[in-house]
Amino acid sequence: MTSSPLQTLQRVFGYDSFRGDQAAIIEHVVQGGDALVLMPTGGGKSLCYQIPALVRPGTGIIVSPLIALMQDQVDALLELGVRAAYLNSSQDWRTARQVEQAFLAGELDLLYVAPERLLTERCLDLLSDGKIALFAIDEAHCVSQWGHDFRPEYLGLSMLHERWPDVPRLALTATATAVTRREIAERLQLDDAPHYVASFDRPNIRYRIIEKNEVRRQLLDFIQTEHDGDCGIVYCLSRARVEETAQFLCDNGVPALPYHAGLNASVRSANQSRFLREEGIVMVATIAFGMGVNKPDVRFVAHIDLPKSVEGYYQETGRAGRDGLPATAWLAYGLQDVVQQRRMINESAGDDAFRRRLGAQLDAMLGLCETVSCRRQRLLNYFDQTIAPCGNCDTCLEPPQAWDGTIAAQKILSAVYRLWRERGQRFGAGHLIDILRGKLTDRIKQYEHETLTVFGIGADLSDQAWRGVLRQLLAQSYLAVDHEGYGTLALTETSRDVLKGERTLMFRREPEKKPRSSRSSASRSKTPGIELPAEAQALFESLRTWRAEVARSHGVPAYV
Ligand code: ADP
Ligand code: MG
Ligand code: ZN
Repeated sequence: MTSSPLQTLQRVFGYDSFRGDQAAIIEHVVQGGDALVLMPTGGGKSLCYQIPALVRPGTGIIVSPLIALMQDQVDALLELGVRAAYLNSSQDWRTARQVEQAFLAGELDLLYVAPERLLTERCLDLLSDGKIALFAIDEAHCVSQWGHDFRPEYLGLSMLHERWPDVPRLALTATATAVTRREIAERLQLDDAPHYVASFDRPNIRYRIIEKNEVRRQLLDFIQTEHDGDCGIVYCLSRARVEETAQFLCDNGVPALPYHAGLNASVRSANQSRFLREEGIVMVATIAFGMGVNKPDVRFVAHIDLPKSVEGYYQETGRAGRDGLPATAWLAYGLQDVVQQRRMINESAGDDAFRRRLGAQLDAMLGLCETVSCRRQRLLNYFDQTIAPCGNCDTCLEPPQAWDGTIAAQKILSAVYRLWRERGQRFGAGHLIDILRGKLTDRIKQYEHETLTVFGIGADLSDQAWRGVLRQLLAQSYLAVDHEGYGTLALTETSRDVLKGERTLMFRREPEKKPRSSRSSASRSKTPGIELPAEAQALFESLRTWRAEVARSHGVPAYV
């Protein structure tokens, strides 16, 4: 009669054995238990509900948000001889009627339903009249209002529990932060369900994050030297950048195609199918590209703009190396990325809580970019997983030096403070750097900024180095992009601690920019990068006096 899960795996699906937690999850659900399953894409979530649906009496009801994925799954199951069908808006009523009858007659092992369809009276009544083996809620992170895939219909799914308290429910997702996990369990009322969390490590992907300067050149260089002729994906934030970058790569002999939501559907699908079929195509795309695209031999995923969250970064880079062979995740990021994203958050619609959440997501992404320890460790840590340093990412292979940037930070923060307090002005990064480096540009002269006491106190560092300092201050929220727009910078609550000398700031120095001169590291290692000339030292005395003054008064004014 009914066979065991393992027999079903072998006989129906033709695989020898279960992977990871599959056996435990399936056993638990077969016994009637609820479960929350977190497994990376490609980890094998489908079998976790398909096999219990076959083993238990009745039909497994699978809630799935994407019609295309539903069709693919049903087709694959039919080919294996499993009695599967779906109900969604792409069907005519006659076909839907046939599916309904088959369900009522107990002739279906699996029935895939879109959430909005499931929650109709008609469908709920239908389900009440048949026998249900389990409910599986695939892509369960769609229930998270904060996530990138929020679907309001998913919120209604908590009623399944009330209406069918004895039917096991299984929620599955590849999105795995602790916050999302709690949210799923809460909203779907999976209070007592065990969480099965698979490893999210992708050992064959090598992570690399570099400092951006001429990003298209850097990208071309990367492709030509490390992935010549390989298939890859390049992610950009805007459609215009997608177009430019694809053109640039083509002009330089790399076969690249654009993909974004602004292209018409036929161009998009033509480009997608060329990417899937031909060898060595580089797809330049917005994040509109990728969901449901399963090409095993993508050798690299490059980001030329900063992703908005670690989850997004993980999902996107996860499209590389599905075949298990070595692949690269490459990201170039710089000061402007931080300014731009902070600005976008300021300007985004939504309440404060929403903006705070976006801010926290960005902070985590920036933390990954600025870390001086293993990238993989940091990435997995975001998913609550602990590993030893991987020995394979950029920071493991070439550990960046950390340097004491406290003084540099004080200089720049005091420039921001002075401008605001003495002149009521705020400026963007470029102009601030010009002030610090003492450049007599037209703009400087126009505003008479050469008369500021901070003018020229940062001549000891290069423009590039200052951009690095600013980037890291913004990344760590010692500086903020103000709410007025234009990317002008303002102090934050924590700026004061730095100005008062209560905080030491260690910054990351990129390996490429290591001082090439001498190897006498003993003398250099203390504060490499900053050697104060005498005049600057004098200016620093005045700065110190001023800091005392600030400390004496009520501290830095609230918004400064
Ligand atoms: P997910 O939904 O987690 O992204 P899928 O369920 O689509 O992953 O599975 C990804 C691939 O892994 C499929 O091709 C599937 O057939 C295969 N797979 C899953 N489990 C096993 C197993 N135990 N043995 C062999 N292949 C498996
Ligand atoms: Mg899946
Ligand atoms: Zn590492």
